[in-house]
Order: sequence, then C-alpha cells, then structure tokens
Amino acid sequence: MTQSPERIVLPDDLRPADGRFGSGPSKVRAEAVADLAAGAGQLLGTSHRQDRVKHLVRRIREGVADLLSLPEGYEVLVGNGGTTAFWDAAIHCLVDRRSQHAVFGEFSGKFADAASSAPHLDEPLRVEAPYGTRPVLTGDESADVIALTHNETSTGVQAEIRRPAGSAPDALVVVDATSAAGGLRVDASEFDVYYFAPQKCLASEGGLWIATFSPAAIERLDRLTASRYCPAFLHLGIALENSLKDQTYNTPAIATLFLTVHTLDWILENGGLEFAASRCDESARILYGWADASSYACAFVEDPEERSHTVATIDFAESVEAATVASVLRRNGILDVESYRKLGRNQLRVALYPAIDPGDVESLTRAVDHVVEELRK
Ligand SMILES: *Cc1c(COP(=O)(O)O)cnc(C)c1O
Repeated sequence: MTQSPERIVLPDDLRPADGRFGSGPSKVRAEAVADLAAGAGQLLGTSHRQDRVKHLVRRIREGVADLLSLPEGYEVLVGNGGTTAFWDAAIHCLVDRRSQHAVFGEFSGKFADAASSAPHLDEPLRVEAPYGTRPVLTGDESADVIALTHNETSTGVQAEIRRPAGSAPDALVVVDATSAAGGLRVDASEFDVYYFAPQKCLASEGGLWIATFSPAAIERLDRLTASRYCPAFLHLGIALENSLKDQTYNTPAIATLFLTVHTLDWILENGGLEFAASRCDESARILYGWADASSYACAFVEDPEERSHTVATIDFAESVEAATVASVLRRNGILDVESYRKLGRNQLRVALYPAIDPGDVESLTRAVDHVVEELRK
C-alpha cells in the first residue's frame, strides 16, 4: 500500500525556517517587512511627490549603481509596470529597426514575440536553443538592439553577458536581468541596458521596473522619441526625466520601493554583489550536489556551467511524481517549488535568490527526500 500524500507530515527538524522558494514573487525578508510595518505611519499612504518617497527612489538609483559598479555617465531609470512593460517601452524607444534575440525559454521568447508584432519594426532575428541549454549568439550587422537574458527563469539556465563579436558598432546590448540582477555577477562594460523587476533577487514586490542606461542608450532613446510617436507610459525619455528628479511618471507602490531599498542596503552593507552572488553559489552547490547524488533526481540543465545559481530546475525519475511532491510540500508550508507551468516537465523549480538562506535549501533537500521515501511506502 502506498502512503496517502494527504497524510504525510514533515518532522520539525526537516522544515526550513522559511518555506518560500518561489521564483517570483519570491521570499521577502521578515526583517524588511518588520521595518516596513514599524515605519508605516510615516510612509504608506503619503505623497509620492514628497521627500520621504523621493528619498527611496534616490536610494534605489544609487544602490543599483553601486551594486552593479556602473561606469560614469550611466543612469538608473525607474518606472511602473514591471519587466513586461519595459519590453514594450524598449520596442518603442530603443529598437530603431531590428532587434536580435537570444531565445531559450518563455521569457526571452516573449520579448522576441513582442518585437515581432510591432508594426514599426522589421522582423526580429531569433537565435534559439532548446530549453535547458543556451544559444551562442554571433552578431548580425542588421540588428541595432541585441536582446539577451541573463537568467531564463522558465528553464533555470543562466547565460554569460558579453557584447557579441560581429555586431554593428552602435548596436545596444539590452539585457533582461529580472531573475539575475543582484544574484549573478556581471560586468557593466558588457551591456548598455540591464533591466529587471524587484520581486526576484531583490526580495521586494512586483509592479516596478528598474533599468540602467549607458550614454549610448540615452542617446538612442532621445533620437528615436524625437522622431516617432511613443505613448507617455512607455516613453523612456519621460521615465528618465522623472528618475533624475527621484520620481516616477505615475504613482508607484511605496511598499515596493521600501522593500527594494531594504534589500539593496542589506546586500551593500554585507559586501555588495560578491556577497549576494556567493550566497547563491552556496545554495546552488547544495541543491545541485544533492541532485547529482540522488537516485531519483537530477539537474534538468546538463552543462554545469549553464545551471542557474538563482533558479534551479530539478528533474525527477518517472517513478516519482514531482507535482505530488510539490503538493505535499505545500501542505507542509514549503511553497512554490512547482515546475514552470508551460515547460511541462516532471520537475521542481527552486529559487536560490540571495534572500533565501542556504541552510533552508539544505533543509528543503532533506524534506524532499523524506516525502519521496514516504510516498514509496
Ligand atoms: C519574471 C520575469 C519576467 C516578467 O516580469 P514581470 O515583472 O512580471 O513583468 C520577465 N523576464 C524574466 C527573465 C523574468 O524572470
């Protein structure tokens, strides 16, 4: 007789201190929530045009510049709508005629699709790789934007951020870093625009986009918006103008700003990107090490170099149903380790973002082993 999944109760010593392993929205640190609550009376429900909130926007701009060691002349822009809104903004304000996309999962594919449906642009170039691997992108003279994704959240593959050889000299490298920024190392000289939303590595809420702009990217947006129509909400020139005044074009979620600043301060006070990336490395070592040694689990991404240190995907043998394991874990307070819906694999997906304690990743591996053992009884 097999054990009924509903009956499985995790022993206390196998429970992580915090059970949130979702890839986005992801764990928000309890310290940040407590500090938000403590200061709420002076902050939540106050004007976003006054100093207290403007100060938060400024700290995001300065903190991100610090975190990524941005060169002189780069600006950090902040706007509403999350990464998905930024794709549309980029299509209006950064792509002149044609973009080239490294496509290796759902998110990188979505940006390429959005560019493809824009009537004012030529058909984008796609360099594709099977899910679970990453493409090698060689430059194409006809592309004026090169769209890279630092970490494919849907598959758990991380890429290397490099200006591809052979591209047009004035092509902009525009990087979706939504599940990478603040968790993976990057060299700022290799990109023009590095954009993300703070509900992943930065342990905040959704709804905001943050983007770094090189002088060349600012020049491009100035030139394009001077000569073509752009809806105000997607107008990166308006976003820049507001960001320089430490504001956003329309009303932001103040809690999101606060929590973003809180995580940035925590990372910067502890040593910056190297501190955060090292925590992700440690969690990745624990999780992939466990999978490599397991009789029923293995990393979905074959090449160890390509395995993400911020979002891990773990395949299960046919004899173990990952969805059942995830639902038992959920009933026991371990949340959001289900596989990415559209990938449709028998796997778990586990976030390894900086806010997630490597010790909790260790507990998670033991909890999974326990559940699988119980299910086999
Ligand atoms: C989560 C994610 C997005 C979508 O972000 P939203 O803020 O929900 O629009 C885009 N790209 C990547 C790589 C992501 O991980």
